[in-house]
Amino acid sequence: MYASIGGFRRPSTPRTSRLTVRLAVLASTVALSAAGLAVAATPSSAAVCNGYVGLTFDDGPTGSTSALLSVLRANGVRATMFNVGQNVQSNPSAARAQVDAGMWVANHSWNHAHMTSMSQSQMQSDLSQTNSAIQSATGVRPQLFRPPYGETNSTLQSVASSLGLRQVIWDVDSQDWNGASVGQIVSNASRLQAGQVILMHDGIQNTRDAIPQIMANLSSRNLCPGMISPSTGRAVAPDGTPPPTTPPPTGTPTTPPPTGGCTATATTPNVWGDRYNTSVTVQGAGNWTVVVALTPPQRVSTTWNGSPSWDSTGYVMTMRSNGSGNTFGFTTMMNGNSSARPQIRSCTTG
Ligand SMILES: [Zn+2]
Repeated sequence: MYASIGGFRRPSTPRTSRLTVRLAVLASTVALSAAGLAVAATPSSAAVCNGYVGLTFDDGPTGSTSALLSVLRANGVRATMFNVGQNVQSNPSAARAQVDAGMWVANHSWNHAHMTSMSQSQMQSDLSQTNSAIQSATGVRPQLFRPPYGETNSTLQSVASSLGLRQVIWDVDSQDWNGASVGQIVSNASRLQAGQVILMHDGIQNTRDAIPQIMANLSSRNLCPGMISPSTGRAVAPDGTPPPTTPPPTGTPTTPPPTGGCTATATTPNVWGDRYNTSVTVQGAGNWTVVVALTPPQRVSTTWNGSPSWDSTGYVMTMRSNGSGNTFGFTTMMNGNSSARPQIRSCTTG
């Protein structure tokens, strides 16, 4: 249903109000689909990677984000999603599904305005609001920013930088926004060289249909999809990728050395095919703070009996007591790594 709309797109065109209505109607469908998406991504560890390229998808989340994520996962692709803040706010579960599928989430402005005509304070407000929406929906603070239409100036760059955002444009334009055929998108992507970044969009059928051929071309050249470095803006190997030979789960509690007067003991009472529950019991303190580290791409989807906060990576959770007793818990999505378990880093009083 988006193919006809795609034909009228300018690069990263703001959505029409009619599309907005459609997306609102589809939001509940996406939420349901996200829950059903808990299938491990096909590992691409067999590929020989002599270099990395950054696959990027702009303007989401949309009503077809779950379809895009399904294709990416089926092809073992991790990509960077440049999200529009108001889309995230209206569809936070789709943004969360992006992260749960192993994607990196980034800032593409609040509502896709022409930002170079904004004042400095308007830019600041726009990017901050978008960061907050993404962090609130996903637990991840964006580190990358792509200006709408690729339009930027020195003021916008310095505002982005002050918010910890690295500006990323693109090296290769897939032309998917311009009605390119699947073959044309594949052909454009075949120009990608190691370190480079390609512009694509969420919500376009031809883009989704091109992904298997794009991946076949990249692997024939020993190029692999990577992350975009927040320090250089270039595509690099994903960090935090679990080693292929992670030790199997032992089922034994994780007990760190007591620090600051309390001890936290973790158990894994429930394990399903795609996720598991962890229960942590604290001894020696009524008011406590426990720091737990995950192994990427695992992600926590739900917590209980505590007040969680997250570091900038989204993989380190600080849980504080909230009056619900001395046992808290959380559900972790495996996201393709079924063996890793959370590590308790510290337990402190207060
Ligand atoms: Zn855009």
